[in-house]
Amino acid sequence: MDILIVEDEAEIGKLIQLTLEREGFNCYCCSDGLEALQAFRQRQPDVIILDLMLPSLDGLEVCARIRQQSGVKDPYILMLTAKGEEIDRVIGLSTGADDYLVKPFSPTELVARVRALLRRSLRHGGQYLVYRTQHFTVNVDQRTAERHLEQGNSEALELTTLEFNLLATFISQPSRVWNRTQLIDKLWGDDFFGDERVVDTHVARLRKKIELDPAHPKFVKTVIGVGYKFEDEAVGY
Ligand code: CA
Repeated sequence: MDILIVEDEAEIGKLIQLTLEREGFNCYCCSDGLEALQAFRQRQPDVIILDLMLPSLDGLEVCARIRQQSGVKDPYILMLTAKGEEIDRVIGLSTGADDYLVKPFSPTELVARVRALLRRSLRHGGQYLVYRTQHFTVNVDQRTAERHLEQGNSEALELTTLEFNLLATFISQPSRVWNRTQLIDKLWGDDFFGDERVVDTHVARLRKKIELDPAHPKFVKTVIGVGYKFEDEAVGY
C-alpha cells in the first residue's frame, strides 16, 4: 500500500509519515501541488493524503486534476483541512475527495480513516489492488492469488495469466453476473477474435484450480442463459 502525503508544513507531514509507516504503509511526502501531481503520475499511490492549503496549486485543484487523469490507477484521496477553512463549502464542492479530516487530528484517527478507505475499496471492488473474500485473496499488483485454508493458513494458487485475470475480474465484483462478451472485453480487450465459448474453457480450468469439487462449483457459478458469477463473501482487514 503506497501513500502519497502532500503537506507543506514539514512537521505535520513528518508526523503523518511516521504514523502511517508504523502501520506498515509505504509513504512518500511532497510539499506543494505541482510536485504532488508529478509524484502521483510517477508512483501511482493507492491513497493520497492531501492538504487543502498548499503553495503553487491548492488541494482542490490537485484533486480535480488527479480525477481527470485517465490510464492511471484511481487513488483514494483523504483531504486535510484546517479549522476555519470553510469546511462545509469545500465538502459541498464535491471535489472528488473520498474523505476529509480536520486539523488538528490524532494519529489514531488518521490511521482509522485510511483503513476505512481501504476497507471501502475491498468491499466494493473497483480499482483496488488487493481483493479479499472469505476464501481467497487476490493481489492484482503482485499477481498472486491464495486460497484460505483452515486456521488462518493459505495456499498459493498456480494460475495462468488468463486464469488469474479471470479470477481477479470475478473477485473485483462478487455476485455480479457477467456475460461472455463482458468477460472477453475484460480479458482480451480489442484483441479478441474467435468464438466466445472460449470463455467456458478458461472458466473450466479456473474451476479445477479453485473449486474443491469442480463439477459442483461453489465459487464460480453458471448463470443459465447468461454467463457466470463469482460468489464468496467479501471481508475487510
Ligand atoms: Ca497547508
